[in-house]
Amino acid sequence: MLEIFEKMNETKPTYAIAEGIDPSFLRDDMADATIIDPHIWFNIDIWQDALHEITVGLSEYDSENKELYEENEKKYFAELTELKEYAASKIQEVPEESRVLVTAHDAFNYFGAAYNMEVMGLQGLSTDAEYGLGDVQELVNVLVEREIGAVFVESSISEKSINAVIEGSKDKGHEVVIGGELFSDAMGEEGTEEGTYIGMYRHNVDTIVEALK
Ligand SMILES: [Zn+2]
Repeated sequence: MLEIFEKMNETKPTYAIAEGIDPSFLRDDMADATIIDPHIWFNIDIWQDALHEITVGLSEYDSENKELYEENEKKYFAELTELKEYAASKIQEVPEESRVLVTAHDAFNYFGAAYNMEVMGLQGLSTDAEYGLGDVQELVNVLVEREIGAVFVESSISEKSINAVIEGSKDKGHEVVIGGELFSDAMGEEGTEEGTYIGMYRHNVDTIVEALK
C-alpha cells in the first residue's frame, strides 16, 4: 500500500492520515505483535483524529479555504460524536453473553474493543490469508460451546470460509445463520447511504444488533 501511495503522490498530493494518530490508540495484530492492525476506522475516536489530519492536509494544500475546512471539521466531528453515542447505546440491546462477533477476517478488533464485544475472525488480518481446516474447526467449537447463533459475512471477501463454519456447526447439531453483511475494508456504493462513513458504520451496528439481540 505504502508504495502505491508514494507513487500516487508524484501526480496527486497524497497524505498519510494515520501518521498523525496517537500511537496509544493503535492495536497490534493478535497473532503477530510486529504488525499493526490497520482497521483504524472502526474506532470513532481514532477516526476523529484522522478527521483532524484530513483538515490539516486540505488546509495546507488549499490554504485560501482553510476556514471552511475548519468549520466543516467541527460539524463533522459533532456528527461522529453522535454516531459514537448511537453505536454505544444500540449495542446495549444485545445481552452481554451474546456480544460475540464472528466474521471472516479480523477487521473488527477496534470495533470490538470500543464496545466491549469479543471478536473472532477466521482468516486473520488480511483478506487474502489462507485459512486452514484447523481454524474452521476451532471456530465451530466456540460457536457450539457458547451457543452463538449468527456469524457475519463481509462485503469485500467471499462467503466461502464463513460457509465452511456454518456447515461445520450444522454437523454438530448447532444451527448458525448468516447475520448479515458487514462493510469491513470497503464502504457501500457511491450515492447510497452505506457509501458514506457514517452510513456504513450505522449499517454495521444495526446489522450486528439485529442478529445478536
Ligand atoms: Zn481488512
